[in-house]
Amino acid sequence: MKLTLAELRKRVGDDEEAAYELLEELRWPTGPICSHCGHDKAYFLTPKDPAGRVSGPHGKRSVRRVWKCAKCRKQFSVLTDTIFQGTKIKLTDWLTVMVLVSSAKNGISGREVERLIGVTPETAWFMLHRLREAMRRESVLAPLSGVVVADETYIGGVERNKHKGDRPAPVSSSGAGPVRVIPGQREKQNRGPKGNKSIVLSLISTETGEARSRVVPDVTGATLRKAIAEQVDMPNTTLHTDEWKGYNAVAQELAGHKTVNHSEDEYVRVEKVRGEDGQVSRNVITSNQAENYFSQLKRSIDGTHHHVSKEHLQRYLDEFDFRYSTRKLSDTARLQRMVDQVDGRRLTYRPLTDHGSVG
Ligand SMILES: [Zn+2]
Repeated sequence: MKLTLAELRKRVGDDEEAAYELLEELRWPTGPICSHCGHDKAYFLTPKDPAGRVSGPHGKRSVRRVWKCAKCRKQFSVLTDTIFQGTKIKLTDWLTVMVLVSSAKNGISGREVERLIGVTPETAWFMLHRLREAMRRESVLAPLSGVVVADETYIGGVERNKHKGDRPAPVSSSGAGPVRVIPGQREKQNRGPKGNKSIVLSLISTETGEARSRVVPDVTGATLRKAIAEQVDMPNTTLHTDEWKGYNAVAQELAGHKTVNHSEDEYVRVEKVRGEDGQVSRNVITSNQAENYFSQLKRSIDGTHHHVSKEHLQRYLDEFDFRYSTRKLSDTARLQRMVDQVDGRRLTYRPLTDHGSVG
């Protein structure tokens, strides 16, 4: 099935029941799975009134398709125990936004959602955050292994609102003209918290192209070690980093640790390695992948979301990582991946709004 926005409109349109059927097909390709016990046999509960249940102040038809488990006898729907549980937003709208999120190259903004399905800014923001929850892949995936590039960057903070002393010192280019920040030197000459900027550590597998990023409080050895150990299969990983000494804290536990000296413009180093079989192979050490990842990340945040509050940065990173890691999949396969991850990730409005500002 190829699911574009046009296809969705044709197939589902405004029909909520058709939306339920489509989500059931995506989530349960081999038939309904009980949300309570995982059993794979269930009976469809036909509404007593063939026209559907009538509920709500306006007597609207309820189109919630309900199943009854053959084993535990409990009832469930395709929304039970998912990010959609208890939602008052139409499922047709959810699907529309999901198709858009999975096909947009840089993600979509709350404003676009407002315009497209005619909801309030709060609802649009809430929908995007719930979908980001489904895109948080880390906990459902095996740790990274093989060759992994690690690098950090600084994100956020509005330069013009800050005191001069908080700004990272610009690096002059050798020639005349505007000041240029050299990659690798970037803001990193003096590592540590930079005003109200957030520090992001990214790990990128050179084999699968999968990326995982998280906000870290600092770049000390202890912090880096913890963040890396939680996401990487240490004994089976060779880590490529720049020469920041913080990474040395983790080096002993890894299969290998190679460094590239950014400050001397050494982005790629080729080593000749003689293997056990006597064959000489080229071992390319590069952090270009990380540089490329960060430039895309910054473009996405600046271009689509304009400003991401500190509290919500991790969720934007989750979305970006999902998009980056699935960049070689078709839009439909990416949507399928998102649907596969909607289970058991209920997120209430409360914990999100407790932080105040709308990110
Ligand atoms: Zn059951």
